[in-house]
Amino acid sequence: MINFVNTSWFFVGLVLISFGMQASVWVYFGLYIAYTAIFFRAAFDVSSNFFMPVLCSSPTVAKEIAISFDDGPSEYTPEILRILDQYQVEAAFFCIGKHLADHPTLGQELHRRGHLIGNHTDSHHFWFDCFTTGHMLADMRRMDARVEALIGVRPRLFRPPYGVTLPWLKAAVDAGGYEAIGWSVRSLDTIINDEQKLLNKVVAALEPGAIFLFHDTRKITAAILAQFLEQATLQGYRVVRVDKLLNLEPYVPVLVNRF
Ligand SMILES: [Zn+2]
Repeated sequence: MINFVNTSWFFVGLVLISFGMQASVWVYFGLYIAYTAIFFRAAFDVSSNFFMPVLCSSPTVAKEIAISFDDGPSEYTPEILRILDQYQVEAAFFCIGKHLADHPTLGQELHRRGHLIGNHTDSHHFWFDCFTTGHMLADMRRMDARVEALIGVRPRLFRPPYGVTLPWLKAAVDAGGYEAIGWSVRSLDTIINDEQKLLNKVVAALEPGAIFLFHDTRKITAAILAQFLEQATLQGYRVVRVDKLLNLEPYVPVLVNRF
C-alpha cells in the first residue's frame, strides 16, 4: 500500500540515485515538486489513508448508511433533531467544543435522543493544521472535557477539521487514542444554495455503507433533510449510527475518582 512512509523512502532512494549519477539540480527540483504535490494531494483527500487510517465507509452490502453533521451545535440543530426524531434516525454530530459551550442544553439533548457526539476539535481553528502535535492534542482534549462535563463520557471518534490529514495530526490522534472518521459522500451543503440540487446530489449518492457529511450549521440542510430521509427509506435504506455501521466503541468511559 502506498503511504507516507514508503513514499518518503522511495523519494530518498531517488535522491540518492540522482546523487550517484551526478544529476543536474533540475532533477532534485523535479523530485521536490513531485513529492510536495503528492503530499498536499493526499493531505486534502480525507480518504487517502496516506498519513493515517481514516474510516470513510463500511464494506457492507446491506442497504445501510450513516449520516453525520459537523460544526454544530447551532440554531439549526433543534430543527434537525426534530426531523431525525420524526424518522426515528440516530445520527453522529461531530461538534466543535466552543459551540457546545454556547449550546450546552443542545449537547445534552443530542445524547439524550440517542445521537453520537464526536470530537471535531475545540476551536476548529483556521490554522489548526499548522498547529504542533501537542497543541492539536490540547485542543482536542479541551473538546473532550466539555463533552465529559455534559454527558459523563469522552468521545473516541474524531473528525479532522476540513478533512485534512497530516503526519503530526496522526501523532495527536494516536496519542489521544481516537479513531478518525471521514466520509464517503460530501454533501457540499456549505456550498450549494439550491435545495433541489442539494437533495438530488445526496439522493443520487445513496449506496450501501456510505457515510454522509452534512453540517447542522446550515439552514439548507435542515430544509432538505426530511426529503432525503424519505427518499432513502423509499429506496430501502436504513440509517444507522456511524459507530454501529463501523462496529466501533463510540466513547471512552470516564472513571470517577471516589476518594
Ligand atoms: Zn468542520
